[in-house]
Amino acid sequence: MFRKKTQLWLLRPKWMTILSIRSECSSTVRLRFAPSPTGFVHLGGLRTTLFNYLFARKHGGKFIVRIEDTDRERIVPGSLESIMDILHWSNLQPDEGPEFGGDYGPYIQSERVELYREMIEKLLKTDTVYRCFCTHKRLELLRREAVKNRETPRYDNRCRSLSNEEIRQNLAENIPYTVRLKLLPGPMDINDLVYGRVTYDLSLIEGDPILFKSDGLPTYHFANVVDDYHMRITHVLRGVEWLVSTPKHLMIYDAFGWPRPKYAHLPLLINTDGSKLSKRHDHIRISTYRDQGYYPEVVINYLTQMGGGFGQLNTADCDKIYPIDKLAAAFDLQSVNQNNCKIDVEKIRLLNRLHIRNLIENDPNRIRNDLICLLERNREKFQSLQQFDNQDKNYFDKCLRWSSTRIYTINDLITNDFLFLWSQPKSTWVMEDNFSFGGTKQQIQQTLQATIDLLWQMNEQDFDDKDEILQKLRIFNSSDEQQMKFSAYMKLLRLSLTNLTKGPPVAESISLLGKNRTIQYITNSIEHLRNKNNNNNDQ
Ligand code: GLU
Repeated sequence: MFRKKTQLWLLRPKWMTILSIRSECSSTVRLRFAPSPTGFVHLGGLRTTLFNYLFARKHGGKFIVRIEDTDRERIVPGSLESIMDILHWSNLQPDEGPEFGGDYGPYIQSERVELYREMIEKLLKTDTVYRCFCTHKRLELLRREAVKNRETPRYDNRCRSLSNEEIRQNLAENIPYTVRLKLLPGPMDINDLVYGRVTYDLSLIEGDPILFKSDGLPTYHFANVVDDYHMRITHVLRGVEWLVSTPKHLMIYDAFGWPRPKYAHLPLLINTDGSKLSKRHDHIRISTYRDQGYYPEVVINYLTQMGGGFGQLNTADCDKIYPIDKLAAAFDLQSVNQNNCKIDVEKIRLLNRLHIRNLIENDPNRIRNDLICLLERNREKFQSLQQFDNQDKNYFDKCLRWSSTRIYTINDLITNDFLFLWSQPKSTWVMEDNFSFGGTKQQIQQTLQATIDLLWQMNEQDFDDKDEILQKLRIFNSSDEQQMKFSAYMKLLRLSLTNLTKGPPVAESISLLGKNRTIQYITNSIEHLRNKNNNNNDQ
C-alpha cells in the first residue's frame, strides 16, 4: 500500500483513540460521504456511506453528502444521478446534501469555486504556499529524467526560492502559475481511529503539491480540506486508500491554522481469493443488487459482515438482519479490523433469502406489495395479467410461502419457473407440431375437457391436499376411456398449467393454483389448441 521510501509505523495505543473519541463526541458530530461522480457506487462506497451514517446516528450528529467534482475530466455522465439514486434506495438519508439542502451548501464542489479562490488568496498571504511558474514542458522534462533514473517523479520545488522581484516580474508578464504547498520535512503523525498512530514523511516521496491550478480551479486535496472545514466536519471516515493523502490534508489544515478533524480509515475490500476488486465487476456494483431485487437492508447487513465494527453485535452470524438503529447503537470504530476484508457474494444471496422468509412471516403486506409492483412492471411476460385486489391476498401469501425455499430474490418470482403463479404463461407448447402425448389433437382436447369436469366436482378444500389430487388424477387416467399413459397425461397437464416441461409436481401446482385458476388455465389451453387446429385447417 505504501511506497518503499515511506517511513511508516503502525502503532495502536488503545487509550489514545478511546480518549479522542470521548472528547470529540461532546460537541455536535458531523460526518460526510464525499463521492466523486466518476462511476457507479460500489460496495466500498456504500460501506463508507453506511459507516458515516451510523457514526452520525450513534452520536446524535449530522450526516452530510458532498459531491467532489473538481476533476472535470474524470466525471462520468450520469454518475451523480446514480449516486443520489443509491442514497435514496438504501434509505441512508443524509441530513444535508444536494437535493436535501442544509446550512452549509452548496454541496457540489463545482458550485463552490468562489470559496476556494478566496481561501487560496488567504494562504498566499502566508508563507505556507508559493506561486509556481514552471511550465508544463519543464515539469515533463523533470518527470522523464526521473523515469530514466528509475526514480519516483517529483517536483524539485524550484519556485520555492524565487525572489520577490522575480515573482513580481512574472506576475507583471502574466505568466500563468499554480499555487503549491510547502511540504514540511520530517515525520508527521496521524492518530487514526482505526489504524492507530501512523507516521509518515511525505517530503521524502513527493515534491510540493499543487493546491490551485493555473486554470483557476482547486486541486482535489485543497477543495476537500476547505470543504471539510467550512462544513464543520468533525470526523472523516473514508477508505484506507486515502490514508496516504492524510498528511497532506493535515498540512493544509495547519497552514490555515484550522483545528483538524479526526480521521478513521476503513480497510480495503477484496475478493474471497484475495484479489483486488475491480470496478468492472458487476458484483461490487450496488445498482446490480438493486436491479436484481435484493433488499437494501440486506445489502447493508452484508456490509456489516465484512471486517467488524459492531462490537458485541455478531453481525457475521448469517442468520439475522439487524435494523439500522440497532446497527447504529452497536457501531464502534474501535472494533473495525485493520486487515483487508474479504467479500463473499454467496453470503448475500443467503441473507436475502433469509430476509424474504422474515418478511413473509413478519411483514407480509410489504413483500406482497413489492411482488405486485414487480408483476405490474413486467406485464409483458404474461399472456394476460389481471388487476390484483385484496381478494388475492391469501393467494399471494400462499404462493410466497411456497416459493420462499426456492428463491433468493423477489425477482426470481418472475423467472420462467414461477410465471404460472401470477397468470397463465404464454402457451408456447401448443405451437409444437408433435405433441408426443399419444392420441390425436381432438383426443387431447377431450382429455383436458374431461379433467375440467373432474375438477369441477371437487370442493375448494379438496385442493389443499395435493396427495388427494394426485390420487384423483390417477383414478381418472386409469379409466377405460383414457388412452394416454400417466406420464404423458402429467406432461400435458404441466404444460397446460405452467408451460414448463420440468417444474413442480402437477398435483402440487394444482393445489397452489386452486380450483378456479386451474380450471381457467386448462380452459384457456383448450381454446389455444382449438385456435391452432383451426389455423392449421385454414392453411
Ligand atoms: N472524493 C473521494 C472519493 O470519491 C473521497 C475522499 C474523502 O472522503 O475524503 O473517493
